[in-house]
Amino acid sequence: MKISFLGTGTSTGVPAIGCDCPTCTSTDPRDKRFRSSVLLSFADKNILIDTTPDLRMQALNNNITRLDAILFTHSHADHLMGLDDVRRFCLLQNSAIPCYASQRCAADIRRVFDYALIENVHLQKSFCPLIELHEIEGPFDLFGGHVQPVPLIHSGDSIFGYRIGGFAYCTDCSEIPADSFALLADLDVLVLGALRTKPHPAHLSISQAIQIAKRLSPAQTFFIHFGHTIRHELVSRELPDGIFLSYDGLCVDTDPLD
Ligand SMILES: [Zn+2]
Ligand SMILES: [Zn+2]
Ligand SMILES: [Zn+2]
Repeated sequence: MKISFLGTGTSTGVPAIGCDCPTCTSTDPRDKRFRSSVLLSFADKNILIDTTPDLRMQALNNNITRLDAILFTHSHADHLMGLDDVRRFCLLQNSAIPCYASQRCAADIRRVFDYALIENVHLQKSFCPLIELHEIEGPFDLFGGHVQPVPLIHSGDSIFGYRIGGFAYCTDCSEIPADSFALLADLDVLVLGALRTKPHPAHLSISQAIQIAKRLSPAQTFFIHFGHTIRHELVSRELPDGIFLSYDGLCVDTDPLD
């Protein structure tokens, strides 16, 4: 399975609007971050995790021409509001796109994108995305891979991370419940949200994320969803072996059937 990091930034993106700090004015391409999202490619299928407001540019920059399914972590705007852009894929593929979300996230998708649900689409297809929405509570199979939702604590709610084989994607969390630690054992690649060096009520700090990565001890950990207080070059240097700051455009390979 190929993991492509389409975006690695926090909700504002980096650079942030109206900011002239050293990161926002940096010429290092790793300091330019779209909102966080990954594309998983295996068995000739492309699975997207989250539809950020940057989805159109992410698809263009990464030459994504097909989407077979979307997994949603939660319905915060930085993870959802690009959903309308999938209409290009629906048109190219002449099909609806299966989307998987928790009950709570699915309710928000129904409220905001009701016009795109396959049962509501009466207009000419090219004007809207076509969404086949699946509410999930537990594990399910997708294109021969086993998808395990991993409950995480974020902003006082339970949201989903996802594990597929030896890969897990856990963005936007301040805490990993004890039962979820068991779901994240023996990983090859862990992707983990880490907002900044200072603590934050809804997100792990870099040092909290390092502690979790050490406890889970996957072969490799990649941090995502960090803001403009993180200069890639400076913070990367300080990380322990096997733990990295991701960046937009990075690709990593792992086995989905581990
Ligand atoms: Zn977020
Ligand atoms: Zn800044
Ligand atoms: Zn969030």
